[in-house]
Amino acid sequence: MLTSIAGKSVIVTGSSKGIGKGIAGVFAEKGAKVLIVGRNLDSAQATAAEINAAGGTAAAFSADVSSWDDMQQMAEAAVEHLGGIDILCCNAGIFPDAKLSEMTPEQWDEVMGVNLKGTFLGVRACLPKMKESGGGRVIVTSSITGPITGYPGWCHYGASKSGQLGFLKTAAIELSPHKITINAIMPGNIETEGLDDLGEEYLQKMTESIPMKKLGTVEDIAYAALFFASKEAAYITGQTLVVDGGQVLPESLMALEEI
Ligand code: NAP
Repeated sequence: MLTSIAGKSVIVTGSSKGIGKGIAGVFAEKGAKVLIVGRNLDSAQATAAEINAAGGTAAAFSADVSSWDDMQQMAEAAVEHLGGIDILCCNAGIFPDAKLSEMTPEQWDEVMGVNLKGTFLGVRACLPKMKESGGGRVIVTSSITGPITGYPGWCHYGASKSGQLGFLKTAAIELSPHKITINAIMPGNIETEGLDDLGEEYLQKMTESIPMKKLGTVEDIAYAALFFASKEAAYITGQTLVVDGGQVLPESLMALEEI
């Protein structure tokens, strides 16, 4: 059993729904204080209220991770509401699709701005407070899409998710003297509101392509995050963990027909 994270102060970006909500819920269940962050304040407040009603400790804050001002204010809000920052989960992300031949420079910039620059800005803004805490953990939600696999419509998304991994390797070295680790989770296809938007046909075909024959749950990702946040993971930094039900393993469709 992992050492308790009770009492730790945790920011989870993009936590009003989906994977972020799952991470915030599990961390709160384990006794951590969580700051729920999303652009829409009403939905962030609704998630915080749900966690508080279940006996956890949560506050809500409205911020756009692609805004430097917002990220600085988020760090201040965490100190005000939670008393400091021990753990930062850079989870907020978007995955609109656009084929390369039609992709506009604006679409590229938007995805990079939220997914990649948003990760940098979140870490940059929280760093002074994490140093003050005497150490900490940064946990990035990357993806299998980009670093390992490709999918039509997601050139920009894949590049942003690979970029997060490039970012974390150097960040891990620079953060080490401050006792701050940074690691990334690479989810496969996880049941979330965002994934639901891709439609029933996508979800069904994707499920068939996964050896475990099911999509992941937000808790599957949250438990991986909990491990990276634990005392026991203190010597792990700059690393990644794929959580995908075996999705990246089949060499071809034939590999799945054999089972
Ligand atoms: P989701 O269900 O669409 O939820 C996204 C969350 O991020 C919401 O809380 C949303 O709230 C917030 N958000 C979006 N843009 C934001 C911004 N600019 N600033 C602050 N908050 C923002 O998404 P998800 O499926 O849980 O995905 C979460 C993360 O996991 C993303 O980084 C995604 O790339 C990654 N991921 C997901 C899957 C999957 O299968 N679901 C697989 C691999 C990786 P607001 O709209 O109110 O801002």
